[in-house]
Amino acid sequence: MDRPDLLTLAEAGEDTAVSAPASFNRPSRPWRPRRVLVTPAALDHAHGRAMVDRLTALGLPVERLASNRLTGLRQDDPRRAYALAKATLAIVVAPPTKLKLQPIPPSADWRFDLAEGCPAHCQYCYLAGSLAGPPVTRAYANLDAILGNLAAYVGAGRVTSRQEARAEEGTTFEASCYTDPLGIEHLTGSLSAAIRHFGAWEAPVQLRLTTKFADVAPLLDLPHNGRTRLRFSVNAANATRYEGGTARLDERLAALGAVARAGYPVGLTIAPIMPIPDWHHGYAGLIAAAAAALDGVTDLDLTVELITHRFTPTSKQILEGWYPGSDLPMREDERSRKLTKFGSVKYVYPRDLMQEMRSSITALVAERLPAARILYWT
Ligand code: SF4
Repeated sequence: MDRPDLLTLAEAGEDTAVSAPASFNRPSRPWRPRRVLVTPAALDHAHGRAMVDRLTALGLPVERLASNRLTGLRQDDPRRAYALAKATLAIVVAPPTKLKLQPIPPSADWRFDLAEGCPAHCQYCYLAGSLAGPPVTRAYANLDAILGNLAAYVGAGRVTSRQEARAEEGTTFEASCYTDPLGIEHLTGSLSAAIRHFGAWEAPVQLRLTTKFADVAPLLDLPHNGRTRLRFSVNAANATRYEGGTARLDERLAALGAVARAGYPVGLTIAPIMPIPDWHHGYAGLIAAAAAALDGVTDLDLTVELITHRFTPTSKQILEGWYPGSDLPMREDERSRKLTKFGSVKYVYPRDLMQEMRSSITALVAERLPAARILYWT
């Protein structure tokens, strides 16, 4: 099997053990960036300094930059630039545009960012085409401003704030649009701070995030007060070979059970749904495994989001540059061409196939996870 993600990790000098297939029973290891950069402006913030202390305590050498610009990350060889960027963590100050929140239907009222970029290597990564420049992971030092900014948006959203069926979620804030906050939590502590912030916030609000990682131990005892929904991004077992550098599927499902038992509202983000060989059997196995992980949880508050694979001309071009040997199917002639509301093109599965997968997978959820609310299929 061609594993371009492993080659890229090896080029970067990364530990490839984290990319082992699910059949290897070795626990996934937390990401250790090979390079850590911190800007002068980031050190003006208490959270920036705390992240540097945390990284130093982990034995990671931190390079203090002379200016607030990240330079030297571009390379002539795009794969080498990718490998270098994916091995780099930068502690920076979020630009002012990050404090102007955007709606994020159908998931949540608003998206906000604790960081941008992700250390994993998913061959379908939804960040492809969204990030400008090499995909360095940037963790934001101005956390107080980022969290303090949220109050102005309460009640002003158009998703959970408007939908009767989701009204009990209050105003929702999605933190995983541009990063995987749990994948870098051991390096940043930002997610724990956000969970505490929402836990102490006496208002109808909810923090939401989805993750392909599993180290939830530091979150279990936090005073979350039910105001954070932790969702786990999962897929049929034979689709997880496209997900280099993430936690194994069985680890993610065990983490789902652990946080549900710790009283968190939880969720499954089944994505990207693909008509892989024997897909019905594959998704049946996934949903049965999720049900087993949640067995016996009292007061279970479970949502399910169902997201099919899609790509744009830009994301396809970027992903083919990052993972040139990938066999992930992205042929335009096998898809339906759609225009987004912004006028850009995306390629989705044809309507009949979409309908077949939808009815089959929603029926599996209803049968095996009767307590779950399906929020949307897209
Ligand atoms: Fe992209 Fe998510 Fe995979 Fe990270 S975990 S590489 S953000 S798809």
